[in-house]
Amino acid sequence: MPLAYPPFKTCPCGSGHSYAHCCGPAHDGSRPAPTPETLMRSRYSAYALGNAAYVLDTWHPDTRPADLHLNPATRYLSLKIYEASGNEVEFSAALQVNRGERYVLRERSLFEQLEGRWVYVDDITPPTLDGPVG
Ligand SMILES: [Zn+2]
Repeated sequence: MPLAYPPFKTCPCGSGHSYAHCCGPAHDGSRPAPTPETLMRSRYSAYALGNAAYVLDTWHPDTRPADLHLNPATRYLSLKIYEASGNEVEFSAALQVNRGERYVLRERSLFEQLEGRWVYVDDITPPTLDGPVG
């Protein structure tokens, strides 16, 4: 079950906007993410909130895993977008596992429009993991 997240709180994706004016409408289906970058942000927020259903729902059917179990002990500390152009987004996500070491996962992702909605296809560059970091 996804965590209930207060709409007035700052969005987990770090945009600085409230959840209701950022990833919330994508999560509740009222306004699908209009660009690859906003989809990337909403997927990061979904990971952070334990919303596996949304992560799967925005995954291309050809590359989507059959099942997705999010580790509740993983904390999503921050998201950084380096570049968003065309249907590619390069980002890094800082993670903390089991209240222990922090890692930074960096990836360049490919997105595609499917029936008018953006979906995540795959990583273009294999994800790299740096860590531990401060
Ligand atoms: Zn957001």
